[in-house]
Amino acid sequence: MDFDIERKRMIRSLVEKGYLTKPDVIKAMEKVPRHLFVPEGIRRSAYIDTPLSIGEGQTISAPHMVAIMVEALDLRPGMKVLEVGGGSGYHAAVMGEIVRPDGHVYSVERIESLAERAKKNLKEAGYDDIVTIVVGDGSKGLGEFAPFDRICVAAAAPGVPEPLKQQLADDGKLLIPVGGRWYQDLILVERKQNKFLQTNLGGCVFVPLIGEYGYGN
Ligand code: SAM
Repeated sequence: MDFDIERKRMIRSLVEKGYLTKPDVIKAMEKVPRHLFVPEGIRRSAYIDTPLSIGEGQTISAPHMVAIMVEALDLRPGMKVLEVGGGSGYHAAVMGEIVRPDGHVYSVERIESLAERAKKNLKEAGYDDIVTIVVGDGSKGLGEFAPFDRICVAAAAPGVPEPLKQQLADDGKLLIPVGGRWYQDLILVERKQNKFLQTNLGGCVFVPLIGEYGYGN
């Protein structure tokens, strides 16, 4: 199987369906090899637009969801980004590709084995210089590296965690699925000084955010 051809085909389909519109996001998703972020046994499915199992009951998000989230974040080169829910490292690599060369992505993953695998994936794909994986409860954010220009949460929470709001830079944007266990709304939070403006971007389904400011431990 020629993964490069398969990737181009998938990106073309995401553009045709309207999920991908911004040239920098299209370029990033054309470049990042998703097949290197899924377990070897299922690499043939890497360019199907669907979530895939990465072990420990967790998933790599569907490409159209990564496209929606990265477009909504409005990333620019040089930005400092926090991702909560690193999983395979794929989504972080796509964001890293856009904020390169002077920006950085800090990605927190609570399951150590997944974090170790994500580090290997990022190294193999050439993103270990721009993405740092940290093991821990990302619902508390990552105070030592705050403030962040952008925060992207890839797991569903019952509400917007207060520490994440406080770690957002002025004019920053935070994206998070909020709702019940089986269905959530993707919420965009924009910080203007100490005011937080919320916009509902529509329905989505994510695995739960497990942690102090998520669904508990
Ligand atoms: N962004 C990932 C990717 O590109 O593969 C997919 C993320 S997956 C849908 C959600 C991840 O969030 C899981 O790996 C899960 O272990 C992690 N997670 C859940 N609660 C967390 C928390 N409090 N802190 C950090 N990671 C968490």
